[in-house]
Amino acid sequence: MGTKLSACPCGGGDYAACCGPYHNGAPAPDAERMMRSRYSAYVIKLEDYLLATWHSDTRPAAIEFGDEKWLGLEVKRHLQSGSNHATVEFVARYKIAGRAYRLHEISRFVFEDGRWFYLDGEFRD
Ligand SMILES: [Zn+2]
Repeated sequence: MGTKLSACPCGGGDYAACCGPYHNGAPAPDAERMMRSRYSAYVIKLEDYLLATWHSDTRPAAIEFGDEKWLGLEVKRHLQSGSNHATVEFVARYKIAGRAYRLHEISRFVFEDGRWFYLDGEFRD
């Protein structure tokens, strides 16, 4: 997609060896990788990728990017149940107008047609 990054926004190392391949069409091998690649896609505003990896049952019509400056991602837990369902708990930190916030979410993913999709998420305090 023409994005030239060195360090991956998700903190997983070199972008070309981390989330880059998924943004360019490779299937993420597990829900944690999918979650990381979606976080990175928010950071670099890849709307098409975010929509394409959102399950059709819950997918919005468009992604609304806010004024967040994303600071980093910490994956706390990745639990796979059976071969088609997984949850990923994470904390993402960001700033808006200089003020720091954290997003703590447990996301649900489903595996269909050889790909992981984001289904929905539940916020934590
Ligand atoms: Zn990454």
